[in-house]
Amino acid sequence: MSEPLSELAARALNLLNGGVIVLDAQQRIVVWNTWLTPRCGRAANRVKGQDLCDVFPTLRGSRVESAVLGALTENIPATIAPSQVRAPFPLREAGSFDGEYVDQLVTVTPFNEGEERFCLIEIRDVSGTVDREKRLLDHAETLRAQSYVDGLTGIANRRYFDVALNRELKRAIRLKAGLSLLLVDIDSFKAYNDHFGHQQGDQCLATVARALAAMLKRPADVAARYGGEEFAAILPDTSAEQAGVLAEAIRAEVAALALEHAPAAKWPMVTLSIGVSSFDSRVLNEPKALIEAADRALYAAKHGGRNRVVVDGEA
Ligand code: GH3
Ligand code: MG
Ligand code: MG
Repeated sequence: MSEPLSELAARALNLLNGGVIVLDAQQRIVVWNTWLTPRCGRAANRVKGQDLCDVFPTLRGSRVESAVLGALTENIPATIAPSQVRAPFPLREAGSFDGEYVDQLVTVTPFNEGEERFCLIEIRDVSGTVDREKRLLDHAETLRAQSYVDGLTGIANRRYFDVALNRELKRAIRLKAGLSLLLVDIDSFKAYNDHFGHQQGDQCLATVARALAAMLKRPADVAARYGGEEFAAILPDTSAEQAGVLAEAIRAEVAALALEHAPAAKWPMVTLSIGVSSFDSRVLNEPKALIEAADRALYAAKHGGRNRVVVDGEA
């Protein structure tokens, strides 16, 4: 038999901020510290000498049981992280009799005392850490939402678009330079989703976004996801005529990708309708007006049969 713990060691063990169980080679409990008591409702004097799996029947066939067997028979230590098993032991917050089990990090360590084999089980309550990690992930998500990049397509998001359009319009007014805007909408995209599923729809959006961004060659040009299956391009120093030519090239480029479309769509491949508007100091001198004009042109392109470009004022 093993020696009893010294009084000092026993006190320290009972002050530990974590569960400690020691099992003998027959999986009987020989040490059980008081941290465990209010968390499972069992005190040391009730469980000593009992088989661990009789005290916690849910451990039978569990990861803990196989770790204990591995330690006692093969001398193999093990760690069970909450990402593998969230709560290996049925332990709750101290003093509570219902509610969820706490998240645990469990380590199982074999050791020998004379001829006898034992195993030490340490249980740490890591609920706080898990919560903290979750909060950090949520925070990262918030930051991304506040950033300027669209998470799905990797191009600029609507927030950036608004900032950039404002800035470029001011610049165009100041320098009496040209500025054009394209609003680009995927044709019959609802049918695409309905036929191929939303996930493939997402991939299609990313592909179209990449193609659009690749067509914009000047450093000051901005490709953005305007919303849903709609994109925008801000083209500084670009006249309506030049913008119309570029829009037509974008339309042709995406059609040439020959991305298979849903049978319900008018064309066998994914196509774009594009509306073009341009800065005009007499009327289109604020972002809202420029967007509305491009939107009108886009609407005309849809009504004209889709898969086409309409330049505002030329419809
Ligand atoms: P139209 O040719 O008139 O533009 O028809 P449409 O079906 O493209 O237009 P509608 O506005 O009716 O439908 C847009 C569809 O785009 C519906 C919506 O589910 C889909 N959509 C919007 N955002 C996303 C997204 O982030 N991912 C996916 N997969 N689909 C999206
Ligand atoms: Mg559409
Ligand atoms: Mg749309």
